[in-house]
Amino acid sequence: MYIPRTKFLILSISLFLGLASLLSALVYSAYRFTEDRRLDVIRARESGYLAVSEQIIKRAMFEPIADLNVVTQLPVVRHYLNNPNPENLAAMTRAFLAISKAYRRYYKIRFIANDGIEIVRVSRQQNLSYVTPESELQNKADRYFFKAAMALDEKGLYVSPLDLNMENGKLEVPYKPMVRFARHVYDDNGNSKGIIIYNYDAQEMLDELKVVGSSELAEALHVVMLMNEDGYWLSNGHAPEKEWGFARDKSAEVFGNQFPSVWPHVSQEEGGTIFNEEGMFLFKTVRPLDSASLGNWGLAPQSADDGIAITSAQAYRWKLVLWLPPLSLSKTSLSAQAFTWPLVILFYVLLALTSAGFAYLLLQRKLRRQLQAEHMLEMERQAHTDVLTGLINRRRFLELAKREIARHLRRPEPLSLMMLDIDHFKRINDTYGHATGDEVLKLFAATCSSVLREIDLFARLGGEEFVALLPNTTVNQAELIANRICKAVALAPVLSENQEQINVTVSIGISRLTDEFPGLDVILQAADQALYEAKQTGRNKVVCANCSVGLGTCDKNKTSLNPI
Ligand code: GH3
Ligand code: MG
Ligand code: MG
Repeated sequence: MYIPRTKFLILSISLFLGLASLLSALVYSAYRFTEDRRLDVIRARESGYLAVSEQIIKRAMFEPIADLNVVTQLPVVRHYLNNPNPENLAAMTRAFLAISKAYRRYYKIRFIANDGIEIVRVSRQQNLSYVTPESELQNKADRYFFKAAMALDEKGLYVSPLDLNMENGKLEVPYKPMVRFARHVYDDNGNSKGIIIYNYDAQEMLDELKVVGSSELAEALHVVMLMNEDGYWLSNGHAPEKEWGFARDKSAEVFGNQFPSVWPHVSQEEGGTIFNEEGMFLFKTVRPLDSASLGNWGLAPQSADDGIAITSAQAYRWKLVLWLPPLSLSKTSLSAQAFTWPLVILFYVLLALTSAGFAYLLLQRKLRRQLQAEHMLEMERQAHTDVLTGLINRRRFLELAKREIARHLRRPEPLSLMMLDIDHFKRINDTYGHATGDEVLKLFAATCSSVLREIDLFARLGGEEFVALLPNTTVNQAELIANRICKAVALAPVLSENQEQINVTVSIGISRLTDEFPGLDVILQAADQALYEAKQTGRNKVVCANCSVGLGTCDKNKTSLNPI
C-alpha cells in the first residue's frame, strides 16, 4: 500500500509536536514538584546545620568565660591575692600551667598586677605550655585591655574584639585569631590586686565551623561563613584567603561585595533564607555574648548571685551564613544527573518513532478505508454496468427510470422512451462469428450514445436489445433522434475479421408517457409493441406506439421533425 510521503511527514510531525508538548508539560510539572520537595528537604537539613554552627560558636565563646570565672575563685588564686608571697605565687603559677595544658585553647594565661607589670605568664606555643621567665615579663600598663579590665568591678568580665594577634606591631603569620577575656581581681578585703587575663585561641572554633555537615559528600555541599557586623569574614569555608579583610586593610573583601543582593537582607534581618541565581543562603544573627546566650549556661548576671557582667569591646553581633552555590545545590537534581539528558533524548526519539508509527497506521487505515470505499463503488458500478458495452444494465435502468418518472410526475414534462433491437443479429453472429457480433454490439452502443444526450438514460436490456429513456423530449423529438440513430448506425463502418463490410440496421419502437400510459411498465410494453411492429413491418425503421406519428421505414435522411 503506497502512503504519500508528504502526508506521512506532516501527520508524523503534528503528532510528535502534539504528544511532545503534552508529555513535556506533564513531565515538567512532575519534575518541578519533585524539585521543590528536594529543595525543601535541603532547606530543612541546612537549618539544622545552621543551628549546630550557632551552637559551636556560642559554646566556644562561653568556655573561656566559664574558665575565667572558675579560675578567679580557685583557692590557690585566692591565697595569692590575699597573701602574695613567693610560695603562693608558685602555687598559682602551677595552677595556670595546669589549666593551659588541660584546655590547650589559651595562648596566654596571665596575672598582671595593678601597676601593669606581668607577674605570671603561661604561654602555649606549638602544643607546649610553659612559664615565661621573670626576665621576659613585660609592662602592659598602657595596653587597652589592661585599662579596660582595671575599670571593672568584682563581677565584671571584659571581652576584647575577635582579632588577629599582632607581634611587635605586625600581624603574626600564620594568623592567630584571638579574643582576650579578662577579670579585675581583688583580695578578700576588696583591694584591687590586678587582672587575670586569657588570650583565647579562636582558630579551633572557626575551623570547626568549616566542617559542619561536610562529611555527607554525596549530598549538596554548603559553605559556612561567619562574618562580623560589617560583613568581613571571620571564617569562610569557600575562600579562606578572604578572611580577616579588616585586619589586612582589604575593605573590598566583604560579603556585601561578593553578594550585593544578599547582604542587605543578611545584615538587616535577624535570620532567613534567600534563594536566587547565586544559590541558597540560610542566615542567622549570632550574639554569643548576649545575656540570653549566657543565661543558657547559668552565667547571666540576673540568673545567680555569682552572675557576671560582660563588658565587650565589640557588639559581638555576628552573621552566620550557610551558602549552597548553584552547582552544589543542583548536584542531587535530576537535571544534573549524567543519565538524565540521554534519557530525555531517548524519550523524544522514541516519541518521534511512536508518532511515525501512529501516523503510518492512521494513514494506512484511512487509505484502506478509501480503497474499500472505492472497491465498493467499483463493485456497485460493475453491478450496474454491462461489461461488454459499458452501458448501464437492465436492473440499473429500471431503478433510474423509475426515479426519472417519479420526478416527471412532480414536474410534468414530455418524456419519451425508445426500444432498440439490432436487425438480424443472429445472422451476423452466424456469418462472422460471436466475437465480431460482440464488436458490433460495442460499436452500436457507442454510436447510439454519441447521438443521445447526457441526460438520456441509455441501457442494454440484454442480447442485442437496448432501451433509451429521453427526459424532456417529445415524441417528435424522439423520432428525430431515432432516425439519427438509424442513420448513424447504418453509416458506422463495421468490418469483419476478414475486413468485409457488415451492414447493420436497427429497428426502434417509441412510446411516450401520457395519462393513458402512466407508468414505466406500460411505456416499456408499448415501446416493445411498437418495436415488434417495426420488426414485423420490415425492420430498419421507427415505429411510435402511442403517438400519432406515421409508421414507416427508418428514414436516414430525415432531419426535420414529423408533424404530430
Ligand atoms: P430480429 O431481426 O428479429 O431481431 O432477429 P435477430 O436475429 O436479431 O433476433 P434473435 O432474438 O433471433 O437473435 C438474437 C441473437 O443475439 C441470439 C443470440 O445468440 C445473440 N446474442 C445475444 N447476446 C449476445 C452477445 O452478447 N454477443 C453476441 N455476439 N451475440 C449475442
Ligand atoms: Mg434482433
Ligand atoms: Mg432481439
